Amino acid sequence: MTLATPTHCPYCSLQCGLNLQQAGGALTVVERPDFPVNRGALCIKGQTSADLLHSAERLTTPLVRDSKSGELRPATWDEALDMVAAALIAAQAKYGTDAVGVFGGGSLTNEKAYQLGKFARVALRTSTIDYNGRFCMSSAAAANLRAFGLDRGLPFPLEDIAGTDCILLIGSNLAETMPPAQRYFTEQRERGGSLIVVDPRATPTARNATLHLQPLPGTDLALALGLIHIAVQKGYIDQPFIDERTTGWPQVQAISMEYMPHRVERITGVPAKQLYEAARLIGEAPTGMVLTARGAEQHSKGTDTVSAWINLALALGKAGRAHCGYGCLTGQGNGQGGREHGQKADQLPGYRKIDDPVARAYVAGVWGVDPNSLPGPGPSAYELLDSLGEPSGVRALLVMGSNPVISAPRAAHIEAKLRRLDCLIVADYFMSETAAIADVVLPSAQFAEEDGTMTNLEGRVIRRNKAVPPPSGSRTDLEILAELAKRLGHTEGFSSQPELVFEELRRASAGGPADYAGITYARIDAEYGVFWPCPEESHPGTPRMFEERFNTADGRARFVPVTHRAAAEEPDSEYPIWFTTGRVMAQYQSGTQTRRVDRLNEASPEAFVEMHPRLAKSLGITDGETVRVISRRGWVEVKVRIVSSIRPDLVFMPFHWGGKGRANSLTNPALDPTSRMPEFKLCAVRIERLVTTTD
Ligand code: SF4
Repeated sequence: MTLATPTHCPYCSLQCGLNLQQAGGALTVVERPDFPVNRGALCIKGQTSADLLHSAERLTTPLVRDSKSGELRPATWDEALDMVAAALIAAQAKYGTDAVGVFGGGSLTNEKAYQLGKFARVALRTSTIDYNGRFCMSSAAAANLRAFGLDRGLPFPLEDIAGTDCILLIGSNLAETMPPAQRYFTEQRERGGSLIVVDPRATPTARNATLHLQPLPGTDLALALGLIHIAVQKGYIDQPFIDERTTGWPQVQAISMEYMPHRVERITGVPAKQLYEAARLIGEAPTGMVLTARGAEQHSKGTDTVSAWINLALALGKAGRAHCGYGCLTGQGNGQGGREHGQKADQLPGYRKIDDPVARAYVAGVWGVDPNSLPGPGPSAYELLDSLGEPSGVRALLVMGSNPVISAPRAAHIEAKLRRLDCLIVADYFMSETAAIADVVLPSAQFAEEDGTMTNLEGRVIRRNKAVPPPSGSRTDLEILAELAKRLGHTEGFSSQPELVFEELRRASAGGPADYAGITYARIDAEYGVFWPCPEESHPGTPRMFEERFNTADGRARFVPVTHRAAAEEPDSEYPIWFTTGRVMAQYQSGTQTRRVDRLNEASPEAFVEMHPRLAKSLGITDGETVRVISRRGWVEVKVRIVSSIRPDLVFMPFHWGGKGRANSLTNPALDPTSRMPEFKLCAVRIERLVTTTD
């Protein structure tokens, strides 16, 4: 009999179910049609994910930087862990507790994210902890909290999308980034529904839409206000819903009156006729959903932009009832759970606020420590990285599940800062670009080599099951944290057993907004996941939220008054072209995993820059030519792809590669004032040819 282990894809927030099957001594991916989210479908990344388990590039020995040669050399676990503990203790003794920082990731399991937060607050007593999820969807999280009093990416199961009459999708290319989710959109269209896509690029997702709005990047906020304006003008507003279930409409309505269609056309570049058509499609539809992703969120005004889209959903009465609602399509595998259990700078487990005295007392009780010993909120991800090596900043940093050399904005600046640290420690399973410059590299286990839970974009808590033991010489992140905690004087309280950590997480989250108290490993297995909040084992979980009331004190959703403002950096005579970033189907995030898979590299071997034929012609550039793209922060050298699917004033680059193809060498770290998310989606560049011609 062939053995198969049901588990989940190691990549994006859809967390597609798959089976890993032993065949001839190796594991292969086979369909898992019973898992309801993807019903067996996988994109090329999921299909090839078992290759990660057999990769010859796996790290299997701790490495330490030799003080004489300056090179990384193999070490024993004891030597490496002793070195790490000594460096952390020395940095804190010399510079204070906050001089040791912790940087986590949105791909870590719930157990690891929880334990990492506890490790920082209890074992290190540092406030300096944040994670790369801050780069992913923190603007939507902040807007969700403002409007609904709770942040869960989708407040409904993905399958509900198939039953809605109109979808307004902003800044997502899910046909390429999340292909198995496409089936719900296809079903929706087959039922006669409509799809409006807002994207400056005519992506495969946009090309399939009923209507594609192609605004100037960074103008979505004005676009949303313009649609509210038209909705008022045309009588699409759902006044009974507004009166019964919301507060704050008059202010938002008054602001929207300033966004006349011709003005919005001037700001966004979207013809007024298309604005009317979009407002009509969603305004006249009996049910509708508004969904945002990174295109709306990764801006210095991302929170306000998402608030504007939520305002539109509320004004149309398309929230808090069946087949209606606002949702965010989370990016990273555990982008949702990763921000609920304490690795975010301002949070304690259960999505509790770290500056709330009641929350502090409760969690300190679970942890068996004095509430006064818990640090307060720390700096956000970019601010943490920008403080590295500074006199009052971080001097020693533990990175777990992240590759900021590739993924941080203004990446060359951040890389230089990482190199200046007294001690950089990286736990990873491949030699990422960040691990390559570390002082200590700790080889860790990856998906399918350890148990744990993830929370997908729907708020569904699922199990990642272990199918094989980790390779000899590596350890799980939980084992690493337990060993380090021991060396810092905490012989108890840091279990390396995932289920025991999850049991503690359940207690720590009990009563919090993201309440996992009623979720057990056994239930997850039996029910294909359990949706939080789930306060008791007898509770069915909460697939659909807000149908009775929103999570605010009065149960009403809040309209948030917001107005359009310019991007932090706009094109000028020196840098005349807009620049934006995103993903391609066959690579994922910083590429630490996907760049190790042959089939993925064959499909997407290198970085490139997309530009419109008109722009290419004006610059004398030909398809396939290598050009230099320069911003105020750095430069890249990449091949050109000439495509008519992009606006002529904009160029696009995927961000999965390093070296001369590192898109984040160019990006602007201007932060959203609320979410502290950087403006990855927009900056100004100029393009130079590397060859000169005589004609
Ligand atoms: Fe994996 Fe996401 Fe692809 Fe599904 S859509 S197979 S979760 S990368």
